[in-house]
Amino acid sequence: MRFQCEKCHSAIAIDDIVMGEPLGCDSCGEILVIPETTTSPRVIINDFVICEPLPDLNLPHTLLPARQITLDRPAWVRLMDPEYIDDNDWVIDFIYEARARAKDKDFQPRPITVAEEKMIYFQAYERGDSPLEEIDAILSMDPDL
Ligand SMILES: [Zn+2]
Repeated sequence: MRFQCEKCHSAIAIDDIVMGEPLGCDSCGEILVIPETTTSPRVIINDFVICEPLPDLNLPHTLLPARQITLDRPAWVRLMDPEYIDDNDWVIDFIYEARARAKDKDFQPRPITVAEEKMIYFQAYERGDSPLEEIDAILSMDPDL
């Protein structure tokens, strides 16, 4: 697992064994508490760092506010439910759903990527100023699937 130092924003890679324990940042020396889970705030998944939950939005546990690191912009990370990790059809549908949305020029918010890192499958979308509409669109069922 990788996560971000709150102070210097360096990426820190650790073994999952020490989750929840304090650790010194290699770059700035700040004492950090290691995120509790592999999808907690500050965890880095691929090009995205998970943000603190947004207040007053009743988000499902599979939809996380995030920040795209390389382009330095807000994003949504939608996780595939890990329950379906061994279900190939489900994984393919999850990938195809993101591709179909990317091809659909009218789909908002715009998809950024669909990827897998350490057995976490996720879709990422741009995050703009209309969180309620964006959440509804991301979580809506695609009738073609
Ligand atoms: Zn640091």
